[in-house]
Amino acid sequence: MFEIIQSEMFNRRGFTKHGFTAGDGFGRDRGEEEAVDARFVELKNRLQTDAPLAQLQQVHGATVVNGADPAVRSVAWTDRPTVEGDALVSFDRDVVLAVRTADCAPVLIACPTTGAVAAVHAGWKGLAKGVVRDAVKSLVRGDASPIGLLAAIGPCICEKCYEVGEDVARHFPESVDPVKDHPGKFMMELALAVEVSLITAGLTSDNIDRLDICTACGNRGLHSHRASGGNCSRQLAFICG
Ligand SMILES: [Zn+2]
Repeated sequence: MFEIIQSEMFNRRGFTKHGFTAGDGFGRDRGEEEAVDARFVELKNRLQTDAPLAQLQQVHGATVVNGADPAVRSVAWTDRPTVEGDALVSFDRDVVLAVRTADCAPVLIACPTTGAVAAVHAGWKGLAKGVVRDAVKSLVRGDASPIGLLAAIGPCICEKCYEVGEDVARHFPESVDPVKDHPGKFMMELALAVEVSLITAGLTSDNIDRLDICTACGNRGLHSHRASGGNCSRQLAFICG
């Protein structure tokens, strides 16, 4: 069983076909292939859509891929992603975009004017490389403004659970607090780092919906890379324009 958590802001603004799963996972690296295939088919049925699903081979980078690319679309929803990248954008309503996370932040972005949408896998590495900024840039065509874009930051690891070293902290001075009596250690608020990226890219804070559910301590049946010692499945975050 899996639950679908939604952004009320996205629902109010007409982007009802979106969500963040909790419960049974969508990760493929634990030998649960058939069960995971069945979950993808169940999700397709629950969304009552015939649109293909676009996914990527996620590599903690900043590459943005268009969901119209035939190489990233699966009509059956069960094909393994082969194209590398960490953000998907779509300018049509004929594809569902999805990213998989477990502590990293899933970020959904939508343009109420054009109906264009994006799904982003944002961990600290991708953020440092500009994955959120580049997804926003790809979503806004020509000289249009990103000011009206909406963003939802899904379940990710919270600042009480995410200790990082100087190597990570130095990229996010506004999102880390030093740990008392532990020189070189910081607690990082990943959702804040995403928010800062979105605002720097031109969004307004009023248009950013932070779900503030922690994958490690949130008790919502979420998968946490850190809490599991690296042995866990993944949440799926998805959106269709
Ligand atoms: Zn936490």
